[in-house]
Amino acid sequence: MFDLYELEEQTKFGRVGKIKFDKTQITTPINSPTNKEFEYMHKSPHVDSDREKEFDLGVQEEWFYEDRIERWEKGGNTREHMIDYIKRKSSDLKSDINLLNIRFGSDVDTIQEDILTSMLELQRNLNVDVIQTPIPNTSNFEEILDTTINWRKEENIDKPIMGMIKDMESIDILSNYKEDEKIDCYGLYSRYPSVPLLERLKSELEEENTWIHAFSVPHSYYQLDYEGTLGILNNYYGIDTFNHFVAHPKSAQRYYFNWKEMDEEEKKQEIQTGKFLKLDDYGTPEFQKLIEQFGPDQELSAFCKCEICDDNTIDTMLADYDYTHLNERAHEILSYSLEAEKVRSKISSGSAEEYINSKEYPRRFIY
Ligand SMILES: [Zn+2]
Repeated sequence: MFDLYELEEQTKFGRVGKIKFDKTQITTPINSPTNKEFEYMHKSPHVDSDREKEFDLGVQEEWFYEDRIERWEKGGNTREHMIDYIKRKSSDLKSDINLLNIRFGSDVDTIQEDILTSMLELQRNLNVDVIQTPIPNTSNFEEILDTTINWRKEENIDKPIMGMIKDMESIDILSNYKEDEKIDCYGLYSRYPSVPLLERLKSELEEENTWIHAFSVPHSYYQLDYEGTLGILNNYYGIDTFNHFVAHPKSAQRYYFNWKEMDEEEKKQEIQTGKFLKLDDYGTPEFQKLIEQFGPDQELSAFCKCEICDDNTIDTMLADYDYTHLNERAHEILSYSLEAEKVRSKISSGSAEEYINSKEYPRRFIY
């Protein structure tokens, strides 16, 4: 049993704490970049390479959809190649503490026990700091938890286990496991955040003082008509750390091929439909909307203090269209890191409620 979370400040509107590992402590709430987002920061001409190292927690999201599972099941060289590929991607993570989120495609209902064990082995192989319980769509939840817990014991793995919350029922089961000291922290699938689930986290799990990480958080929430986000203020529900959604490789590939087929004019049009995180209200408007509202010469530093926004107007951000998406995502990570510091100080000084009320989109989501 690991005593990972130390609560420093608990209010009705958020909490500040620390996640304690031997090698480092993570101050929360904070955002955690994915390996892809580390790559974006690394490639952005505006971001100093030292900045990447400031992030304590990083997450790799790996998709296992049916044909990938089929290849994985072949074992031998085929699996070795897949492991090598996953390992290569993990080298983009520059954080001290790393997690692997195994995500199953909607076509994967269940997996055999030996496949589950091989996914636990994969986490050991990648030397992640917390072992996640991978949960396919309809598998027996308790069976998977028990296999994970037994594996840790048998293999003498001295690492915490993160139990994954996927629905209301799983909260009940996990609470019991936590009480029996079998799991150490919680992970939440958040691709489509469920308000009732979030409210239960707030009313029940928050009191447990256990670390809660949200995986696959959307850039824009469907509850806000994809026009805004909860961002760091998801901490209102007790979420201490979170990472963004990583697209299914097949849709990412499709997008890439479409992009490659476009001529210059089409690319210029397309890039304007990209979204920009605007921290003054937590809105996520498309660039074309920003232009309509503020004009192309608007300096982005009016909305965010990160180094990318410091260097750019809306127009210059769009001019180098091969870099627009990359810079926007790097800005998102860097701006959330600045914002996390602000939110922590608002919670500590007792003004978190006022702060939530001053941000249009979180206010709309929460109230
Ligand atoms: Zn910025």
